[in-house]
Amino acid sequence: MGKPTGFMEYERSEPGYRPVEERVRDFRAVERRLPEETVVEQAARCMDCGTPFCHGCGCPLRNVIPEWNDHVYQGRWSEALEMLLATNNFPEFTGRICPAPCEGSCVLGINREPVAIRQIELAIIERAFERGLMKPRPPAVRREKRVAVIGSGPAGLAVADTLNRMGFRVVVYDSAARAGGILRYGIPEFKLEKVVVDRRIALMEAEGVTFEPGVRVGEDISYHYLRGRFEAVCLCAGARQPRDLAVPGRELGGIHFAMDYLVQQNRRLAGETVDPQREISALGKSVLVIGGGDTGSDCVGTAIRQGAASVTQVEILPQPPPARAEATPWPQWPNMLRTSSSHKEGCERHWNVATKAFTGSGGAVEAVSTVEVAWTAPPGGGRPVMTEKPGSGRVWKADLVLLAMGFTGPRPNRMVSDLGIRTVNGGVIWRDARNMTNVPGIFVSGDMSIGASLVVRAIRDGRQAAEGIAAYLEECSVVEECS
Ligand SMILES: Cc1cc2nc3c(=O)[nH]c(=O)nc-3n(C[C@H](O)[C@H](O)[C@H](O)COP(=O)(O)OP(=O)(O)OC[C@H]3O[C@@H](n4cnc5c(N)ncnc54)[C@H](O)[C@@H]3O)c2cc1C
Ligand code: SF4
Repeated sequence: MGKPTGFMEYERSEPGYRPVEERVRDFRAVERRLPEETVVEQAARCMDCGTPFCHGCGCPLRNVIPEWNDHVYQGRWSEALEMLLATNNFPEFTGRICPAPCEGSCVLGINREPVAIRQIELAIIERAFERGLMKPRPPAVRREKRVAVIGSGPAGLAVADTLNRMGFRVVVYDSAARAGGILRYGIPEFKLEKVVVDRRIALMEAEGVTFEPGVRVGEDISYHYLRGRFEAVCLCAGARQPRDLAVPGRELGGIHFAMDYLVQQNRRLAGETVDPQREISALGKSVLVIGGGDTGSDCVGTAIRQGAASVTQVEILPQPPPARAEATPWPQWPNMLRTSSSHKEGCERHWNVATKAFTGSGGAVEAVSTVEVAWTAPPGGGRPVMTEKPGSGRVWKADLVLLAMGFTGPRPNRMVSDLGIRTVNGGVIWRDARNMTNVPGIFVSGDMSIGASLVVRAIRDGRQAAEGIAAYLEECSVVEECS
């Protein structure tokens, strides 16, 4: 432990954001970075509490947080880097966009502000990139066995990176024009600049991973094609089937799924072609975002940057409490109101709002009718029941409506249906303890199997799938089954 009294001497520091009036004029990253001396102070706040809940229960990757904190405080940055990379393939992603469940379970957070763990993680990896320490490190020994990874989101990248480090030959296919999955095409540039994704892909390529973008597996190439060339296949195609809203007027123009909108803006910024017939723009529009989560918040920030006349976000659930709810005591991830950088840029937020209908003229949406709802817990316990409040109807002017109500599961995939790959819980892919589906040699990882989740969980699941694939290929080498 670096500084026994650090947690009493220093308060939590956060880097903050660029000023609103500046940042809404561009799409560059909004969050600032902590100066190195402040990162060291934050590391000094770690209490070495004995039972590090941040590591054992908060961080899905089981990042060894107290140890890197100590290394950072003592100025041993290389040791901190080595320790971080041992558990996290891509700290430059999580250091920027992880909601940091580790901080929700930091012991210091019981009665003070938690250690700024995410910022320390970001500082360790970015310092390494800046100093040229993140050089390609191809595996010392190459194995003959080949693995195809379908999908290049964080899960697919983690599978590929982990297997490549073990020496396997890995090809990553993706239907999109560039690798990165939601990191590239969903999450806005202002949260995660795409040069950060490009930098990692270039490093992986230099280390021997092959990327084949623009290939839809199941349509452009078949499983039989893959089976003839690879000893194992890992499906990492995400869970992007959007939840729809079946209310009158849904067919009107100007109502879009959030991902269609966000993908288009990321493609535009990357200089990719956007079909003018399908162009979605918030310029001069009254925008209503339906869905109060993170995807909705990303739509808010994007619409503001596109020059929307107004942006409103509505959510059917009640407003969370301002501080940790009793139902989620420490060390659980706290249910509480979260206000994103986008919300602070000029957005109205409303809770307990249910959408009843869309209305418009000339085939285009002009207004959204809603009703206020109340949630009551049934007397015997169980899930709260929703009721509409009589006389609470309201009409909102809206000429662009963005549906951000979550995802129901993976999109239909011909490879899954043709091979009879087993699905459960409304469409996610079933897998065994080592991530193998019911079809031998076909593995699955990330949102496609766990449902829409977080980048940190996709990386964790990708690492786990890679271990399962390696074990399977080792077994095959012994019984010579899978060549
Ligand atoms: C708008 C938005 C913002 C988010 N923000 C955050 C955040 O700030 N922090 C956070 O932790 N999490 C965030 N998430 C969640 C996080 O991005 C996902 O949990 C994560 O990306 C899932 O990773 P994945 O690799 O399983 O799938 P994905 O990232 O969805 O990648 C799947 C890939 O598979 C490809 N693919 C699909 N079908 C085929 C096929 N047939 N052939 C070839 N390729 C195919 C797709 O093109 C895609 O590239 C966000 C999600 C969204 C939608
Ligand atoms: S990956 Fe997320 S949960 Fe884990 S240490 Fe980093 S910020 Fe915390």
